[in-house]
Amino acid sequence: MSSASLHQALQEQFGFDHFKGNQEAIIKTLLAGKDTFVIKPTGGGKSLCYQLPAIISEGVAIIISPLIALMKNQVDLVRSYSSKDDVAHFLNSTLTKKEIREVHDDLLSGRTKMLYVAPETLTKQENLEFFSDLKLSFFAVDEAHCISEWGHDFRPEYRRLREMMTQINPDIPVIALTATATPKVQSDIIKNLGLKEPDIFISSFNRPNLYYEIQPKIKKDQTIKNIVRFIVSMKGKSGIIYTLNRKTTEELADMLMANGIKAVAYHAGLDSKLRAERQDLFLNEDVQVIVATIAFGMGIDKPDIRFVIHYNIPKSIENYYQETGRAGRDGLEGKCILYYSHKDVSKLEHLMRDKPLSEREVGAQLISETVAYAESGVCRRKILMSYFGEEYTEPNCGQCDNCLHPKEQVEAKDNVVKVLKAIKALDERFASDYTVNIIIGRLTPNITMYRHEGIPEFGIGNDQPDHYWNSLIRQMLLEGLLSKDIEDYGVLKITKNGDAFAKKPKSFKIVLNNLYEEANADDE
Ligand code: ADP
Ligand code: ZN
Repeated sequence: MSSASLHQALQEQFGFDHFKGNQEAIIKTLLAGKDTFVIKPTGGGKSLCYQLPAIISEGVAIIISPLIALMKNQVDLVRSYSSKDDVAHFLNSTLTKKEIREVHDDLLSGRTKMLYVAPETLTKQENLEFFSDLKLSFFAVDEAHCISEWGHDFRPEYRRLREMMTQINPDIPVIALTATATPKVQSDIIKNLGLKEPDIFISSFNRPNLYYEIQPKIKKDQTIKNIVRFIVSMKGKSGIIYTLNRKTTEELADMLMANGIKAVAYHAGLDSKLRAERQDLFLNEDVQVIVATIAFGMGIDKPDIRFVIHYNIPKSIENYYQETGRAGRDGLEGKCILYYSHKDVSKLEHLMRDKPLSEREVGAQLISETVAYAESGVCRRKILMSYFGEEYTEPNCGQCDNCLHPKEQVEAKDNVVKVLKAIKALDERFASDYTVNIIIGRLTPNITMYRHEGIPEFGIGNDQPDHYWNSLIRQMLLEGLLSKDIEDYGVLKITKNGDAFAKKPKSFKIVLNNLYEEANADDE
């Protein structure tokens, strides 16, 4: 299909004059019959990447989407563009028998170009048979990160999609889309979805208009005073406060109200009518602040949210990025402030105690990355982007606390060399905890088992505490001297840069994080 006719379709079907970012290249790839993998931040225009090709292709596209609630919105939106109601349908457990029959009729007639389904709909045998007989154009897997345990929204049903798609039609292309893919999640998606030599399109995750800041969470009343002062300084502009649990949303909303700030609480424990009411109050700006658990935000399209405050540390960097990403969708100011304490980290860890081991391990890893982010003295933007596999090379972003107010740093050159030596001596086969125990010279049963207490590196760093070495290793990871093996859970490897450093050490300054240790002690 030529560029001219694609532009024409864009104009006729959606009323847009230009493709946004790399949409055109993505659409051409899919139309050429290739498996396609799209990674774009929220608001990047992912839906059009399958909607346009669906409309202009022969047959119907099957779009797999995890959220039944959002499916109807999506379909309504598509119908509003095209003015033909049968162009798009959804099939899920909310439909009556009669409605299902009508959808089937439209599908068989060839009028329908897009069919949204939940993964559990695909797994039903009668549906499999029905779909196999249809003329199909392609499969689109939306929110593809749901397939990965490393994503922020793992859905086991997604693991069966490959099998279902193969049964229905193994010969049509698959387009997978997500807004949140770390390198780990990306490889999981490609593997589990069985994408065949896909063309991969990654857009930048940088949000230049967002300002990032971490505040130590000192005493509770002091923290609340700070938050109130900040919100007042925002002069009535809208914002979200995220908290860990339901009780805190209510408490905090009450306290804001007592301070003259219009606020409501929002969480999954409220009945759906009340939730919808409060959401509308916020969208219509009858209240300034919504204090919410992570239940709030999916599918919310309010472009002028001016701040997102995290009252508790989020459970992963992806969650943090998603949640802060709701600020400044219109490209204007968005302030993201995270209140951080060690105690909140323990609370998060505590929440996982009843989960199966593998889930706890994943969870602990995700939390430790978030902690590293919070404690780091490195540009916040740089850390966020490196988390998504992107490199940010500007020396100063001018839009985060660490760039605007650099923290005091200490020279760690010699200690970096010690870490590199220890990892080398361990044949690059151990994770961070084990390595730190070696460096400090702490005899654990595992170390005895591997007989590592005899190596010269055992105890070479006993002049510094654990948190110093943990922090140093995190900063070495950030600076690319080390990498963590994705497949082999958390094992530390020395990169080319790390090898070069070992041969010719140079200055390596790090930030010490005593501040948060003290803040924690104060909180009791
Ligand atoms: P995502 O799914 O990546 O979060 P959406 O598909 O919801 O993003 O698109 C975000 C917004 O951008 C929507 O309002 C959509 O209508 C708009 N949009 C998408 N493509 C274009 C385009 N080519 N030109 C103008 N607006 C676009
Ligand atoms: Zn910065």
